[in-house]
Amino acid sequence: MTAFTYDALPGRVVFGPGVARTGLLNEVDAFGATRILLVAADSETDLARELCAPFADRIAATFSGVRPHVPVEVAESARAMAVGTDLVLCVGGGSTTGTAKAVALTTGLPIVAVPTTYAGSEVTPVWGLTEENRKRTGTDSRVLPRTVVYDPELTLTLPVDLSVASGLNAMAHCVEAFWAPRRNPVSSAVAEDGIRHLTAGLPAVAADAGDLDARTELLLGAYLAGSAFAVAGSGLHHKICHVLGGAFDLPHAQTHAIVLPYVLAFNAAAAPEAESRIASALGSADPVEGLRRLGEKLGVPAGLRELGLREDYADVVLEDILALAPADNPRPVTADALGALLRAAWAGTDPAKEIP
Ligand code: NAD
Repeated sequence: MTAFTYDALPGRVVFGPGVARTGLLNEVDAFGATRILLVAADSETDLARELCAPFADRIAATFSGVRPHVPVEVAESARAMAVGTDLVLCVGGGSTTGTAKAVALTTGLPIVAVPTTYAGSEVTPVWGLTEENRKRTGTDSRVLPRTVVYDPELTLTLPVDLSVASGLNAMAHCVEAFWAPRRNPVSSAVAEDGIRHLTAGLPAVAADAGDLDARTELLLGAYLAGSAFAVAGSGLHHKICHVLGGAFDLPHAQTHAIVLPYVLAFNAAAAPEAESRIASALGSADPVEGLRRLGEKLGVPAGLRELGLREDYADVVLEDILALAPADNPRPVTADALGALLRAAWAGTDPAKEIP
């Protein structure tokens, strides 16, 4: 019998090529905003000013000191500029959205977000702040952008390597949504469709970064991935990558892309519905094989050894991962089984053969 709890997240989404140039004024008007704090990184300031031209007289302040992972001093400077404003408008990637969220966290100001990457932060209520190299994260409904304007035209300039990296991160959110702790039929439907759009968009963008249809597919997939992740949360795959990232300073996106087929192989037999839905969305009879083929096309290394990771790494991280492994993972995470998964992911061997 199906039983579930689903906390739907509120928010308005306006999606389509050109909408940032034609529709942003309407979205800002909907809040009656007259004194807007614009948040955009230095490299996106010209674009942001262009988008805001129809209501330039309402931009009360512009914060451009965006830095990765929102250092607390950046958050404090942005908050100081927010005094007297009535709306935060952010234009940029996850770091820019994160800065706007830091402002909303303490001021309660509404956010209108215009994403220019595939990070997905704009549809989650999760904030992150970094202090002395330690990142703190939390969940607060005040930081969830009230309106998101998705315009694929704005992503045309995102380099292929960054596009592939954040698109594959989005794929990990979708696959993991099938067994993450707050999964439900709605998040699974969203995740399944997200996989479909990412599978179509990723190779097409890699082949031609200027293909607007491909950019549209990828941005739609990224939106769905962010939405699924926001509702379902993160599971075994994200715990493994989080521990590996902290212990060995590995490249975030590559680590995710390499490990994902192994976690899928680990869980698939215990989650047959997820297995068949992921396979169908990837357009492959076998989902693990489908993910590996997609990774190969996109230049993802086969194993963690190719990132320079030492062979005995599993011994170092096993206990930490076991401590974090979700209790309701479809398959119980034992030391033996996890060890086999980690060794196979290092060697880059066929996940179906190596994971018992
Ligand atoms: P980013 O925002 O740091 O941007 C990466 C680079 O791309 C920057 O140099 C930026 O200037 C540039 N850029 C952005 N858009 C561009 C475009 N259209 N054309 C050319 N260059 C462009 O990176 P990101 O991957 O978007 O975001 C990563 C951050 O987001 C991380 O800090 C991550 O933790 C956070 N994040 C948070 C959540 C959440 O739910 N809170 C979810 C996903 C990611």
